[in-house]
Amino acid sequence: MSASPRRRICLMMGPGTLPSQGRDRMDLTHYNAKLSGKPRLTPREMVAAVPEIEDIAQIVHDDEGANEQATHEDLRCLSRKISGILARRDVDGLVYIQGTNTLEETAYFLNLTVRSDKPMVVVGAQRPFTAISTDAHLNLVNAIRVAACEEARGKGVVTVTNSEINAARDVTKTSTYQVQTFQSRDLGVLGYADADRIVFYRAPLRRHTTQSEFDIMAIEALPAVEVLYPHTGSNPGLPRAAVALGARALVIAGVGAGALGLFTEELKTLVAEGVIVARSARVGEGRVLAIGNTHEEGMIATDNLNAQKAAILLALALTKTRDPRELQRFFDEY
Ligand code: ASP
Repeated sequence: MSASPRRRICLMMGPGTLPSQGRDRMDLTHYNAKLSGKPRLTPREMVAAVPEIEDIAQIVHDDEGANEQATHEDLRCLSRKISGILARRDVDGLVYIQGTNTLEETAYFLNLTVRSDKPMVVVGAQRPFTAISTDAHLNLVNAIRVAACEEARGKGVVTVTNSEINAARDVTKTSTYQVQTFQSRDLGVLGYADADRIVFYRAPLRRHTTQSEFDIMAIEALPAVEVLYPHTGSNPGLPRAAVALGARALVIAGVGAGALGLFTEELKTLVAEGVIVARSARVGEGRVLAIGNTHEEGMIATDNLNAQKAAILLALALTKTRDPRELQRFFDEY
């Protein structure tokens, strides 16, 4: 394998499967520390177990230990920290390890808020570090190869899993246990981390990182945004209940092309009362349009962002405006 020699790559870790240790090599399901009795490995321990990493890059360790990534507030803090690290002259790129469940949200948040053109990779694994045929070792190696690759500069945050490079904005987790879980569905991969080299075929066009208008250092808190998922048995009172619990805005993972289903009437009333409502779709591919049968005046359409990513963009956009037309602009540009 080849890569730009000895770039300085910061390795940071959040929670998740990649650094976890199972009870034995056949353990693919009981590897959290409470069940296996073995703590997650630290980045230094993982690099010691895969010494080839040191041939690819000079690893700059973040010795503060595991970062949390459970809430939007955790992401705000993480983004500030990463912005500081990437501003350092002795760091050329960064790899952040985290659990795959919400990896796409972390990657998209960083893509929108870290103002750096240095390569930034978010990586996870479906099988623990100790498992037979684990994807942890190669995913980690490939993430570092991409972070050390000049071509990754300016492409925004990417994920590297199963030898595929995906854009933070487009990628989503699609499979519970299989290693090909991260897919950009109808938009496809940006490139591959293959054995001979890292190859890119295209670059993200939507605004990110250095072209972003979000200044994470100026954002003190993010408003509460809830995602609601209508189905044929939905209780129509759920949107109002979410607002009563403190939601400042709602993203609806709508049916079909973003229809609001059994929530329709209540959402119209809430919009008239000033609640921000964004229409996304639970189907997983294609755009939701700000026109047509299911669009109501005053609502926002989330383009082809899935609901969890729409919630992130909406929370950030709400730090700038509550004007629905201006909020729509964010979904048209990012
Ligand atoms: N449970 C893990 C998580 O935190 C799953 C993983 O790491 O793949 O997302």
